[in-house]
Amino acid sequence: MRTIDTVKVIIHLQEDRDNPIVRRFLERGGKEIIECRDDHELEAAVESVKHRGISSKEAVILKKFQGRIFQKCPGSPGVICCNYLLLNIGFNCLYNCTYCYLNYYLNSYGLIQFINTETFFQDIWDMVRENRNTVYRIGTGEYTDSLMFDDVTGIGASLITRAARHRNLFIELKTKSDNIRHLLDIGEKGNAVLAWSLNTTRNIDLYEGGSASLEKRLESAAAACGAGYLIAFHFDPIITSDGNVEEYLEVVDYIFKKVDPERVAWISLGCFRYSHGFKEIIREVFPGQNLTTAEMFPGPDGKFRYLKKTRVAAYTAMLDRIRSHTHAPFVYLCMENEFVWRDVFKVEYRSSEDMERAFSSHLAKKFLDE
Ligand code: SF4
Repeated sequence: MRTIDTVKVIIHLQEDRDNPIVRRFLERGGKEIIECRDDHELEAAVESVKHRGISSKEAVILKKFQGRIFQKCPGSPGVICCNYLLLNIGFNCLYNCTYCYLNYYLNSYGLIQFINTETFFQDIWDMVRENRNTVYRIGTGEYTDSLMFDDVTGIGASLITRAARHRNLFIELKTKSDNIRHLLDIGEKGNAVLAWSLNTTRNIDLYEGGSASLEKRLESAAAACGAGYLIAFHFDPIITSDGNVEEYLEVVDYIFKKVDPERVAWISLGCFRYSHGFKEIIREVFPGQNLTTAEMFPGPDGKFRYLKKTRVAAYTAMLDRIRSHTHAPFVYLCMENEFVWRDVFKVEYRSSEDMERAFSSHLAKKFLDE
């Protein structure tokens, strides 16, 4: 598995030398450090590192984020979204998933770690305090892996500790790593949720380069559970061109052999999908991959998906298997339309808000009304 140890170069601005996150990266040692006087010098340093053949996943660029660090998940037109809130803590990822939409950003070089995240956290605490009756789910794993550098940045521990003061806040740290040891001894965990994206061993080997094995992910989930965390799982993307999810069902059984079902807060299901232009990009980045050779069809949001009946068969089999173990987690679909929801769950959600209400009410009943 790739870790901070596989990083070769760290690039940062001189003015950020005393920033706590920068200091912790520099203290790791064993890496080439490039300190730049200004943005112009930093850009030149990035170009020179690139030309020396250092790959994008071996260079960390530490910088302040200038945009909106806190936003609503953009979702997709015509599909039901869970109205999740996102915190941008970085951009790009150590791992190398064939299906990752970050492959769209072919020209973006380096693992960009934002170093001013703390400044923005106050906005969360204010919002959550002012709306105590609203259940919030906020996560950091949209444009990067939440935990790949977390033992160095300390962002997870800071978020968990501060979020523990707010019962209505479920902070989710989502990963394909086993990098959680540094989080186990935190005293007050509140409703922090450590979450793993899961796939079958075959698909992890084929499509999730550099990430932790299924065993390692589930061992970590068991350790997190044992340490008192809520946990969650994301089967996204489910890769099956014919709706056969037998190997995924084995993964579901494996989960519940390892962890206490009552501590699983949610499980998401999402079949593989891609946007226009993606096929061409991944053919270039991963020549020989066969992920996009299946027949897929454009939906109302322009994304290509398996046929509806294939997706419904896959989701129904997964849901039935999960329910045979437990009713504790809220199980939901990622980026699916109301008709798929109806066929799988027998519910009528007309909008993302309907689904969000059901999600919040489930979490409140299960984890807050004690
Ligand atoms: S772990 Fe997530 S962010 Fe990282 S490459 Fe894979 S899909 Fe992309």
